[in-house]
Amino acid sequence: MKLQAKCQVCGAKNNWVPSQANIKGKLLWSAGYACDSCGNQMEIDDIGFMPIELRKMIFDRDGKFSIKAAERIDDISSVKIKQILRREFSLDLIKTKSICVNNHSGFLSGTYTEMSWLRSILDSLHLSLAIERTDDAGDEILDLISLVK
Ligand SMILES: [Zn+2]
Repeated sequence: MKLQAKCQVCGAKNNWVPSQANIKGKLLWSAGYACDSCGNQMEIDDIGFMPIELRKMIFDRDGKFSIKAAERIDDISSVKIKQILRREFSLDLIKTKSICVNNHSGFLSGTYTEMSWLRSILDSLHLSLAIERTDDAGDEILDLISLVK
């Protein structure tokens, strides 16, 4: 997907403005623009993860975030988190093992909305999970998108 869109009415170039939402445990995204020249409005949306280019725009605009255990986490809870992630993303064993859950650093990174969506998925475990801004340090934390096929 190109970051610029040609207006279907007047042909002027406009920048897509991406957004994401976590609604009732569903991750949604949309992108739209109001044409600078003629005011024509355009919007596209879908369920799931947004195209990579739009996701990069969100990182540039809002920063990168990660999710971590807010307090010391025992092995059983760590395993339960991985079980839910494994089910949600249909992960194989190797990928599941690559997720490192502890209370020192985040175990997955992404946009703020993705992290809050992830927290809502893990809600049933009643664990204290924190979302924190990571930015550059977030590059060392497994990107949520790497779990998605
Ligand atoms: Zn236009």
